[in-house]
Amino acid sequence: MSALEALRIDAAGCVACGLSLGRTRVVFGSGTVAAKLMLVGEAPGREEDLSGLPFVGRSGRLVMELLNTEFGIGREGCYIANVVKCRPPANRNPSRTEIVSCSHFLDRQIALVGPALVMTLGNVATRALVDTKLGISALRGAIIVRDRYRLLPTFHPAAALRSPKGVLDMMRADFRLGAALLGDLPK
Ligand code: URA
Repeated sequence: MSALEALRIDAAGCVACGLSLGRTRVVFGSGTVAAKLMLVGEAPGREEDLSGLPFVGRSGRLVMELLNTEFGIGREGCYIANVVKCRPPANRNPSRTEIVSCSHFLDRQIALVGPALVMTLGNVATRALVDTKLGISALRGAIIVRDRYRLLPTFHPAAALRSPKGVLDMMRADFRLGAALLGDLPK
């Protein structure tokens, strides 16, 4: 069994926080361990909770479109995970306690996949990996250099679905920047 599969099984039985009480399925992550690109979202929504897969709802369809047009890949060409693995009730933001009790799973996923580029989608994902008080509007599109990977924050797709076209245009520009950067980075 691979280390990633062992971690998935570990997460599937996790009862470390209250979100475990309301979940249908643990949404661990999906994609290939060989991925150069990793996308990090916030938390599963309703459709993710039911299917066990990240980004399969409305937000997910938008992300898949951007992945496809800007990176030329589908969901299997990258690795996708969320900061918390269980759906918060009524899609509220995960609490600090929930994020802290779940973050070791994401840290291990990043270590095991070893992506060259991590794109964080939205404030929650970005602040889970970057120690900052800045909001996503200030951070998006800026490449943050880490020891083992580059990190590129962009908006959460829900913001693009909610707002006028400007947010989607900026997300697209960030995905395009990520694709250009990834072409120059070794795995
Ligand atoms: N679906 C996910 O898996 N994560 C999000 O952040 C939003 C929708």
